[in-house]
Formats: sequence, C-alpha cells, structure tokens
Amino acid sequence: MSKTELRAIKGDITKQEVDAVVNAANTSLLGGGGVDGAIHRTGGPAILEECKQIRAKQGGCPTGEAVITTAGNLPAKYVIHAVGPVWHGGKQNEQELLASCYRNSLRIASEKQLRSIAFPNISTGVYGYPKGKAAEVAVSATKDFLQHHDTNLQSITFVCFDEENYELYNQLLNKV
Ligand code: ADP
Repeated sequence: MSKTELRAIKGDITKQEVDAVVNAANTSLLGGGGVDGAIHRTGGPAILEECKQIRAKQGGCPTGEAVITTAGNLPAKYVIHAVGPVWHGGKQNEQELLASCYRNSLRIASEKQLRSIAFPNISTGVYGYPKGKAAEVAVSATKDFLQHHDTNLQSITFVCFDEENYELYNQLLNKV
C-alpha cells in the first residue's frame, strides 16, 4: 500500500485539480450557500441535474452520508456530495455524523479507485460546528479510514477557506 499524503492548504474548493472535490451539501441535494453554492455556480447545471436524478431515486441524502456525481465545468473529475450535521451543542451525535461524512466520502473515492480528493471544512460554515472540534474529527476519521483500508489515494487535501481553519489543520497534521 502506498502512503497517502495529508495536507492543508488555504484556498477555494472549486479550483482544486483533483479526482474528486467534496461538497458540503445538504440533505435535499438541491444546492445551497457556501461551498455548495460555489460548486454549483462554478460547475454549472450538469451537477444539479445529476443530483436531481439521485434525489428521484433515493430521496436526497441522509446526514452523514455521501453521493457522487460528475463535476461539470470544475477542474475536478467528480464531486462527492457529503451531508454534514448541523451543530446543536454536541450531544446529538454530531461527532459521529461528521466522522461518517469523511468516512463515506473516502469509501466512495476508494471504490472508484480515485487518487486524489479535496475536502472543505464540512459543517463549519452555516451549520455552526466549532472549527477546532471539526478539524479533529476530520483528521482522525481520515487517518482511521486509511489505517483500515487499502486505497489508491495518493493525496488528501483539506482546503481551508479561512486562516483559523488553516492553522488548526496545520497544527493537527504536523503533530507527530
Ligand atoms: P456547512 O453548511 O456544512 O457548514 P458551508 O458551505 O456553509 O457548509 O461552510 C463550510 C466551510 O467551507 C466553512 O468553513 C466556509 O468558510 C468554507 N467555504 C465557503 N466557501 C468555500 C469555498 N469556495 N471553498 C472552500 N471552502 C469554502
């Protein structure tokens, strides 16, 4: 098994030239603000069309789960739409649901034999998940997945939009 590189960058998820970018979607799969808005705006209508087809088949996407579409006009090949939990104070299974988003996205990437994936900081925007806690969940769920699965993934990028998240991820990833 080749070693997967985990890194944090400061940037825009829609600009990532990777096999798959992850969208911080909502259960409707019909688009929204933040990352979701940016992905649909930049990627064009093909992504929403595919989301609607998935919705017609399975009625949206439950929190903690993920679905895959092509990426329209984005430089990525695929979009993995993962639905993060809304933060309600931490006692409503938020941690497990957020971990599950990362696990399910990585599982889909692994099944498709993808080599690179980029995640936004799921749930830390309008869904209100505290950034430090969310970063810990993202990094530990990702490392845990890699320990238990043999994948083709060569790089996993955490794309941070703000300085605070960027610093949090760097601290976590540089810890020995
Ligand atoms: P959620 O509803 O899951 O909280 P949001 O899209 O509101 O999702 O925000 C998730 C995180 O993504 C936030 O930290 C936000 O600052 C960041 N973000 C917003 N736009 C972009 C973008 N274009 N690329 C990368 N990250 C972004």
